Amino acid sequence: MKLPIYMDYQATTPCDPRVVEAMLPYFTESFGNAASRNHRYGWEAEEAVEKARGQIAELIGANPKEIVFTSGSTESINLALKGVAEMYAEKGKHIITCSAEHKAVLDVAKHLEQQGFEVTYLQPDKSGRVSVEAVAAALRPDTILVALMWANNEVGTLNPIREIGALCHEKGVLFFTDATQAAGKVPVDVEADHVDLLCLSGHKIYGPKGVGILYVRRRNPRVRLVAQMDGGGHERGMRSGTLNVPSIVGLGKACELARQELPSEAARTAALRDHLEKRIFAELDFVHLNGNREHRLPNNLNVSFAYVEGESLIMGISDVAVSSGSACTSASLEPSHVLRAMDVGEDLAHSSIRFGIGRFTTQEEVDFAASSVIGAVKRLRELSPLYEMALEGIDPKTVNWQAPH
Ligand SMILES: *Cc1c(COP(=O)(O)O)cnc(C)c1O
Repeated sequence: MKLPIYMDYQATTPCDPRVVEAMLPYFTESFGNAASRNHRYGWEAEEAVEKARGQIAELIGANPKEIVFTSGSTESINLALKGVAEMYAEKGKHIITCSAEHKAVLDVAKHLEQQGFEVTYLQPDKSGRVSVEAVAAALRPDTILVALMWANNEVGTLNPIREIGALCHEKGVLFFTDATQAAGKVPVDVEADHVDLLCLSGHKIYGPKGVGILYVRRRNPRVRLVAQMDGGGHERGMRSGTLNVPSIVGLGKACELARQELPSEAARTAALRDHLEKRIFAELDFVHLNGNREHRLPNNLNVSFAYVEGESLIMGISDVAVSSGSACTSASLEPSHVLRAMDVGEDLAHSSIRFGIGRFTTQEEVDFAASSVIGAVKRLRELSPLYEMALEGIDPKTVNWQAPH
């Protein structure tokens, strides 16, 4: 077992060796520019790109012509939100999103507010989920776009995408979804789910970093975008720049593998996640699940451990690579904006840990991680007067336990 154990699959994933193998010829042998029309080098590169486009389209139920290559989800989100806002500004200037979205969405929304657009930030429920009723209530005659993520990257909660998509289509409002965490983990079908724009990223699905796509619907309705990058007119004018052929080949392979292995991997990772969850909840008291037990990713577990401090906990489990809901490495002690949006209390947000289970996670690793975290929490609580008080039935919420750092 290699230490530290990697359990941060929502932050990034390693490349699958089959992906690397598929990419290699495109660095040195078939290195052509996919836009070169006059010779074999260009044709080979173009053929590889078109094959990848098909593999990606198949994973999400799209037509290959609807796939636009980008440098990743952050760029795709920028293109989708700014591109739609600029294109449809005459129709309306109102956009709906949620306060638990990824920063890539929230920061673009903030930027658009500065440009004169009005953004409604829906509050998710305590499990991190947005209801279709909340979207319906926020829609206005001047709403041009609804932007809601498929799966939350911190707590794994799934939004009711199909219902929201159907509502948007009924009302004639475009629907963008950030499927960076969902693609390859849960079934995605842009037709059945009524999605108009969707992003996914290579490095979250065992492909390379720095490559992703934006799906842009071509029919019913045909979505138009203002390009955010000028020059060359690649990707049907929506994203100029010479295509990153090896990475695109890798992304295509990653999507093909994700599609083929989705049912078995979803079941396998969910079983490992459930095992981890069961052990933590069986062997510790005062533990809180952050997320939605019913509607969630198969490979994510986010829990808060009351009466322990997040930083000490992370240090106490240094053989397990995980993320915490507290920005413990930065100077500020801001808890995660997602947990805040879910109204998880400040103290619980600071002591939260996100476990990400992935394609290369083993049962042995999960048991090691479970024992590590359970041991660390028990050790830290032995030193905690607040835990003592809680055991005696005194409400430690009345005590400011974070003060003495
Ligand atoms: C990782 C992630 C992003 C950003 O993707 P990049 O390809 O790294 O830019 C956006 N949204 C979600 C939900 C993510 O998990």
